[in-house]
Amino acid sequence: MPHNHSKKFQRSLVWLRRDLRLKDNAALYKALQQSEHVWLLFVLDKEILDPLIEQGLTKDRRLSFIYDSLEELNNTLASLGTGLILRHGQARTCVPEIAELLQVDAVWTNQDYEPMAIARDRDIDLILKKNKRHFFLLKDQTIFHQNEILTKSGQAYSIFTPYKKAWLEKLTPSHLLPYSIKPYLNALAPIPDHMTPHWPSLESIGFQRQPLSHPGGTRGAQILLNKFSEHVSLYHLQKDYPALSGSSELSVHLRFGTISIRQLAQSAYTKMQAGDPGAKSWLSELIWRDFYFMILYHHPKLAEGASFKPEYDAIEWERGPQAQLLFETWCKATTGYPIIDAAMRQLNQTGWMHNRLRMIVASFLCKDLGVDWRWGEYYFAQQLNDFDLAANNGGWQWVSSSGCDAQPYFRIFNPILQSKKFDPEGIFIRKYIPELRQLPNQWIHCPWLAPTNTLSDLGVKLGENYPQPIINHQYAREQTLKRYATVKTQAK
Ligand SMILES: Cc1cc2nc3c(=O)[nH]c(=O)nc-3n(C[C@H](O)[C@H](O)[C@H](O)COP(=O)(O)OP(=O)(O)OC[C@H]3O[C@@H](n4cnc5c(N)ncnc54)[C@H](O)[C@@H]3O)c2cc1C
Repeated sequence: MPHNHSKKFQRSLVWLRRDLRLKDNAALYKALQQSEHVWLLFVLDKEILDPLIEQGLTKDRRLSFIYDSLEELNNTLASLGTGLILRHGQARTCVPEIAELLQVDAVWTNQDYEPMAIARDRDIDLILKKNKRHFFLLKDQTIFHQNEILTKSGQAYSIFTPYKKAWLEKLTPSHLLPYSIKPYLNALAPIPDHMTPHWPSLESIGFQRQPLSHPGGTRGAQILLNKFSEHVSLYHLQKDYPALSGSSELSVHLRFGTISIRQLAQSAYTKMQAGDPGAKSWLSELIWRDFYFMILYHHPKLAEGASFKPEYDAIEWERGPQAQLLFETWCKATTGYPIIDAAMRQLNQTGWMHNRLRMIVASFLCKDLGVDWRWGEYYFAQQLNDFDLAANNGGWQWVSSSGCDAQPYFRIFNPILQSKKFDPEGIFIRKYIPELRQLPNQWIHCPWLAPTNTLSDLGVKLGENYPQPIINHQYAREQTLKRYATVKTQAK
C-alpha cells in the first residue's frame, strides 16, 4: 500500500490480552487502520501469575495453552516481517514502559468486563494520559457491549429470555462483520534493535509445560470449529449427553480469543436464518456468554463473592473439618456417585467439563453436600482451562439458586436420575471410571444398590476399589430444603 498521509497516528501499540489472534481483532484492526507503525505486545502479568505460583499451581494447563497461542502468533508475525513483544512483569508498569520505549502515540486494546481488569485499565489509562498518550478500549469480546442491550427503562436486564429477545432484535449484519486487516498489513512495524528480543520461556517464569487434549492457537480453534460444523445441526439434540461430544468445546478458545465471537455468531446466525434448529440453540449459548459479561459488568460485587440475590447470603453452609472433608471428596472424585466422580475426573484430567456435568456436580456440592458454592466456584477457577469469571460465577449462582435468572432453590438435581437420563448406557462413566466398567447399565449409576454377589463377580469392592456413596440423596435433599428455608423467609 502507498504511504498513507491521512493516518491519524504515527506510532501505535496493540496490547493483546484475551484476544490471541490477528484475524478479526477489533483493536488490532483499528490500530493498523489509523497508524503508520504498529507493534504488538503481550504481558505475562505477574499480578495474575504470581498468586498461582504461590499456591503451587505451577502445572496450570492454561499457561501451556497461552504459550502455544503466543508462539503461533509470533511465527505468523515473523512471516509478516515483525514479531510479538513478550514481557514478564506487571502490566501496570510494562505497558506504559513499552509505550515509552517505542514512543507510541496510542495504545489499543480490547475491553475486558471483569472488575479487576477494569480497575487496572483505568490506572494504565491515567499513566498513559499523563505522558500524552491515548488509550483506546474496543469492543471485541462480545457482540454487544454492557450498555447496548437495556430494558425500555434503561436498566440492565437480569432475566435471560427478554435479554436474548432484545439481543436478536438489535442484531444487524454489521455487528457480525469481520475486521479484515489485510489492506493495512504494511503498518506492522519491525521490532526496533534497541528493544532486544526477549522471549521468557514458560519454565523461566515458573511454570511446567503440560500436555493439552487439544492444540492451542487459532489452528487449534479451527480444527474444533471444522469438526463441530459437521454436527452443529444436531446440537439441540445432543448437547446434554456427555458421551456424544455434541458441543463445540471451543470455550477455551473463546476465553483466550484464539477465535472471534463474531465469526462464530455469524456462522450460527446464518444457519439459524436458514432454519437450522441446532445452530439456533447454539447461538443461544453464545448469547448467554454476552449476558453474563453484561451481568458482571453491572454487578461487580459478584466478583467479591456476593450472591446476586442478597438474601441468599444468609444461607448457613456446612462448616469446619466436616465441610472440608466433603469438599475434598468432591474435588478428588471420591463421592461414590459415579456420574459425579467421572465428571470430576474429566475436569481434573483434562481441564474441561461438559456443561450438563458442570450443572450436576455443582448442584451436588451445594445441594447434596451442603458446601458453599463459592468453594466450588474457586475450584473450577483453578481447574478449568476455559475459566471465565463471568460465566463461572453465572453458572454457580444459577445452580445454587442465588443468581440473577437462576433455577428455583427447591429444584434439586437427583444425581442418579440425571445420570440415568444423560448417560443412560454409562458410556461416559465407564470412560472415566474403569473400575466400574463391567457393571451392567442397571447398576452403573448407583453401584451400592447392586446385589453383593454381582459386585464381587465383577470385581467391584465398594469401600476398597470404589467408594461407598458419601451421602444419601433423599436425606441430603431434605437437609437442603431446610437450609434454604431461611432464604424463603427472608425473601417474603
Ligand atoms: C457451574 C458452571 C460453571 C461454568 N464455568 C464456566 C467457565 O468458567 N467458563 C465458560 O466459558 N463457561 C462456563 N460454564 C458454561 C458452560 O458450561 C461452558 O461454556 C461449556 O460447557 C463449554 O463447552 P463448549 O465450548 O463445548 O460449549 P458450547 O455448548 O459449544 O457453547 C458455545 C460457547 O458458548 C458459551 N457458553 C455456553 N454455555 C454458556 C453458559 N451457560 N454461560 C456462558 N457461556 C456459555 C461458551 O463460550 C461456549 O464455548 C459454566 C457452567 C456451569 C454450570
